[in-house]
Amino acid sequence: MPGLIDAHVHLSSDVARSPGFGPPPPLMGEDPRPRELGWFVLAKTARELLRSGITTVRDVGSYDDEAIVLRRAVELGLVEGPRIFSCGRIVTATAPGARIFGTMYREADGPWEMRKAVREQIRRGADFVKVMATGARSVVLEDPEPAQITEVELAAVIDEAHRMGLRVAAHAEGLEGARLAVENGVDTIEHGLSIHRAPELLAAMAEQEIVLVPTLTTFHDLAERFSADVAPSLVEQAERQRDEAYRTLAAARSAGVTLAMGFDSGPPGANALELTRMVDGGLTPLEGIRAATMGSARALGLDDVGTIEPGKVADVLVVDSDPLEDVRILCDRERLWLVLKDGRPVAGIDTLLA
Ligand SMILES: [Zn+2]
Repeated sequence: MPGLIDAHVHLSSDVARSPGFGPPPPLMGEDPRPRELGWFVLAKTARELLRSGITTVRDVGSYDDEAIVLRRAVELGLVEGPRIFSCGRIVTATAPGARIFGTMYREADGPWEMRKAVREQIRRGADFVKVMATGARSVVLEDPEPAQITEVELAAVIDEAHRMGLRVAAHAEGLEGARLAVENGVDTIEHGLSIHRAPELLAAMAEQEIVLVPTLTTFHDLAERFSADVAPSLVEQAERQRDEAYRTLAAARSAGVTLAMGFDSGPPGANALELTRMVDGGLTPLEGIRAATMGSARALGLDDVGTIEPGKVADVLVVDSDPLEDVRILCDRERLWLVLKDGRPVAGIDTLLA
């Protein structure tokens, strides 16, 4: 089968969402940890993704230039890792989340500042642009329901990116942000949980080939997995959003919207869990696998990966039984017999024995 593509990751040396993945917690009295250790965490992340059959990822926001530097390191052969697409920093209106997410965000207000923010990401080496159409479910002071950006600002972001040949991903939780994004011609909707409330938007997405990245796992994270560590108001909100996200998944499937797999969680390498959740949510195993390969490739605007055909890039996964019978085998690294990236074995039994 084709290598898996994750369309919504945050490559980061900050492994708060991945307990047990990074270095052990520092002990009192221990020599201070140099910040540069973070680069080794990123290198480990890249290797783990590849070993789990993830041959391409789309980074939708990381601190500083971590994703762009990791992309470079992989390109230069310094570390084994998936093909990386990065947005640079997330373009957002001035908002409380920027005080939490710091250098992951580039705040801007008004259409010309928005254009400048996009141009800065292009200067930085971004492959596409990510914009916050609404606030985030993970920030107490943000209301994810209304649009957080004005239409004139969002249109400026999209025009600036598209004119320069970059695709645009819109973070859209509430319905009005999603509506602005779809009506102004964004390329992918991230989360998009509210869209089941507006069938006309789903029809427009199917028609305009706007891809939905439902990121089901992130709602399970906030509502269940990390509920003890999250502000109570956010846990309650996430429970409601989780249920809506599944409703939107089903509605988008019926409407013929292209779906992509976006894990938006940790640890790196557990990404296929999102595929199994999409299947739990009503996709057939084949539809789930298509979302995690062809659908994600479309989200990234790539036509040379995501399927196995003559002339395309040979990103290939060899598994030891039929994932159409049980997609859960894709979560079990022991079952991944071989991972090829660009026609070259990069992980699996053969390379482990070598
Ligand atoms: Zn995310």
